[in-house]
Amino acid sequence: MSRTLLLIALLCSSSNLLATSLSTPAVGEVRVGRIARIKASLRSDPRNRSDLKKGIAGFYDRSSKLWEEVWGEHMHHGYYDPPDRTDHTQAQVDMIDKLLSFSGVVGEGVEKAVDVGCGIGGSSRHIVRKYGCKARGVTLSPYQANRGNELAKEQGIADKASFQVADALDMPFDDDSFDLVWSLESGEHMPDKQKFVSELARVAKKGSTIILCTWVHRDLEEGEELTKKEVKLLRKINRAYYLPDWCSSKDYQQILASRDDVDISTMKVDDWSYVIAPFWKAVIKSSLNLRSVIGLLKSGFSTIRGAYAMGLMLRGFNVGLIKFGVITVKMKE
Ligand code: SAH
Repeated sequence: MSRTLLLIALLCSSSNLLATSLSTPAVGEVRVGRIARIKASLRSDPRNRSDLKKGIAGFYDRSSKLWEEVWGEHMHHGYYDPPDRTDHTQAQVDMIDKLLSFSGVVGEGVEKAVDVGCGIGGSSRHIVRKYGCKARGVTLSPYQANRGNELAKEQGIADKASFQVADALDMPFDDDSFDLVWSLESGEHMPDKQKFVSELARVAKKGSTIILCTWVHRDLEEGEELTKKEVKLLRKINRAYYLPDWCSSKDYQQILASRDDVDISTMKVDDWSYVIAPFWKAVIKSSLNLRSVIGLLKSGFSTIRGAYAMGLMLRGFNVGLIKFGVITVKMKE
């Protein structure tokens, strides 16, 4: 996710900023009332799976245009090394390249890639250009699928990159279809992590690579549970960003290790929370302009709430509860 969340969030990532933008004389008390509504909605929001899916689709339908206008075609964190770099779009592209090189993917043998939770297809198009391969992407948002296809056409690669609305938990692809299975900041939206991983593995060819980069909570010791305070914070984030319960990187590793079809000796994991940390500040700094704030206000309640909740994400990272998990593995030959 997500990171529409990000920028949107950035636009008003402090509640003070949000309060300021929402309490302009033009709208006055109505907007102050909206903050109370946002806070109330973060406290109670019983969501079942079908509501979650509709919520995700609607959230990205409404917020993706604004994100793209302010931040471009990549809806994910940048790779901030060195931490003070200011070329933000390149930092996002570097994130893709770093994930590929961390996973040992050099392009040889990559003819078909799948982008699971593709946003408007920024990763897919980059990978298509980098390796000369084909890519398919799935998203729950009709707006994103259309926009992804439009951009592929504009960039002259419509014959190689295409996007469609489909559920990552039930992908419309045959078994053993792809040489590279890519999921960047979408796993956190998946309500059934086991099924999610099994879909990634099902569509992956023998010997292919799965790259999973996702928001996770901290690893837990045997028998340990998240504290009540931690659970409360994650639940608020879930309501704002249409997320189900979280898991840890270790949970993903265990799911992968329990499968017969993955070559667990090739699994590599890392925590890249430190390389994305400067992203938030950078986004806030680069995005606070009148156009962004007006766009945010026009995007509606869920987008504004997403922005409001950015502070919660920051808190989660700062206290070590939220991690930016990287997990990669190859399928057995
Ligand atoms: N990976 C993209 C977008 C990240 S935003 C990028 O880095 O630019 C999260 C994406 O996950 C959105 O496109 C959203 O529609 C998608 N998503 C969330 N749940 C999904 C599901 N069950 N099936 C397919 N896509 C899903």
